[in-house]
Amino acid sequence: MAQNIEDKICKLRDEIRRNDVLYYVQNAPQLSDQQYDALFAELKQLEQEHPELITPDSPTQRVSERPVDGFETVAHSIPMLSIDNTYNEAELRKFDERVAKGLESAGYDYTVEPKIDGLAVSLRYEKGRLVRAATRGDGSRGDDVTGNIRTIGAIPLTLESEDIPDILEVRGEVYMPKKAFTKLNQLRTDAGEPEFANPRNAAAGSLKLLDARITATRKLAFFAYSVGQASTPLAQTHYEALGKLKRFGLPVNTATKAKDIDKVIAMCHLQEKTKDSLDYQIDGMVIKVNRYDQHDLLGTTGRAPKWCIAYKFAAEQAETILESITVQVGKNGTLTPVANLKPVQLAGTTVKRATLHNFDQLARLDVRCGDTVIIEKAGEIIPQVVEVIIKKRDLFESQPFEIPTACPACGGQVQKDEDGVYLRCVNPNCTAQLKERLEYFVGKGQMNIDKLGPALIEQLVETKLVKTFADIYTLRFDQLAQLQNPPALAIRRGPRHSQCRRPVRPDPGR
Ligand SMILES: [Zn+2]
Repeated sequence: MAQNIEDKICKLRDEIRRNDVLYYVQNAPQLSDQQYDALFAELKQLEQEHPELITPDSPTQRVSERPVDGFETVAHSIPMLSIDNTYNEAELRKFDERVAKGLESAGYDYTVEPKIDGLAVSLRYEKGRLVRAATRGDGSRGDDVTGNIRTIGAIPLTLESEDIPDILEVRGEVYMPKKAFTKLNQLRTDAGEPEFANPRNAAAGSLKLLDARITATRKLAFFAYSVGQASTPLAQTHYEALGKLKRFGLPVNTATKAKDIDKVIAMCHLQEKTKDSLDYQIDGMVIKVNRYDQHDLLGTTGRAPKWCIAYKFAAEQAETILESITVQVGKNGTLTPVANLKPVQLAGTTVKRATLHNFDQLARLDVRCGDTVIIEKAGEIIPQVVEVIIKKRDLFESQPFEIPTACPACGGQVQKDEDGVYLRCVNPNCTAQLKERLEYFVGKGQMNIDKLGPALIEQLVETKLVKTFADIYTLRFDQLAQLQNPPALAIRRGPRHSQCRRPVRPDPGR
């Protein structure tokens, strides 16, 4: 009987793993989500009845039940180098000239792959089992994020093949698909939490969570793109190695072989045109010399390999209407103009606001309310207004934006900075500055006071209940209860940590 159950459990696990590979690697699922969930539920049930048969590589064991205090740092056995960037055709041709010179005109070819905008990680498999996962960190040491990596359904806990090296380090990119990103930001907006600026930040933030149960809800995904340490060489070329990783059950992005730099350039242009149709964000292409022996010949510059280069797509731009300009007052009194835009899609995110940096910049661009403007976003930089389309301006209605002569929050005096760029409110009792300073003071990394968010600070300052940092500590229950929108006041009974964790349902793996 016991043997039967063990067999049954093994069969279920194999079936689930096989379907994971079909789903994540081959993009050819054979089961519906319901059928998959039923298999998963059956396995879970059997394991609950026979806990002695649970193994760490069982698909049910992806999510650990308790959060960690922090991440250990681990050394990479082979450093994770960075890649040099190019931004145009001419720079790609120069790279090709250096390669040709380094290889003394021997024959060579390239592989071309999309550059995923995510977070680089290294996965260590020993005898086919995932034993450790680390972030890139500074290239030589990264954070041990094994617990969080295990929650990513696309990453196999065991590799399936006869010829897997005893030690195999797989390098790749953890990313957040665009759909998951949009959904996560929606949830955060609904909960009054700040949105993530882009999918990469969202992926990085999710991978660095101390509670893997939350990471499991974030729908992260993965593409393998190279091999670190391997106890036996995987292949003689990069292209072959990618094929093997895929055969082992790892998701690998499409890589194309290119016989020369002309073909490489054509591939880059083609992908740049079609990149928006992908379900994930890419910010360029990675070009590698294909043969490994030629990698050794070319070597590295210490920081980046000479056999590899990234081609970065041009910063993305979008045209929209600037509906109004708000002046924000920072915690040091700096006045910053912010453009409120008609929402527009840019680089995979909806943009509603863009920075105008300072009033000099605003005047230089002559930005006015109602203008049609070009906004740009490069990498993780906040979108900015780069140009006004003057010919679309209504010359009769349009008025130059008036640079404030008093603080928009307190009406206090403003002064230009010594270097003449920034305007500052110099009123020491400015409420806007007080709010900003309080937000900083109670935030993470400072006093870390739970539940004291911007909305509550706003009320506390406006009602003059809080005029200094110290006032926070003498607030009374009855004072808070009298506020127009009182905070959810919970009377604490038990120890602090017992009440503040929201239960999170573990994800069955997809
Ligand atoms: Zn002020």
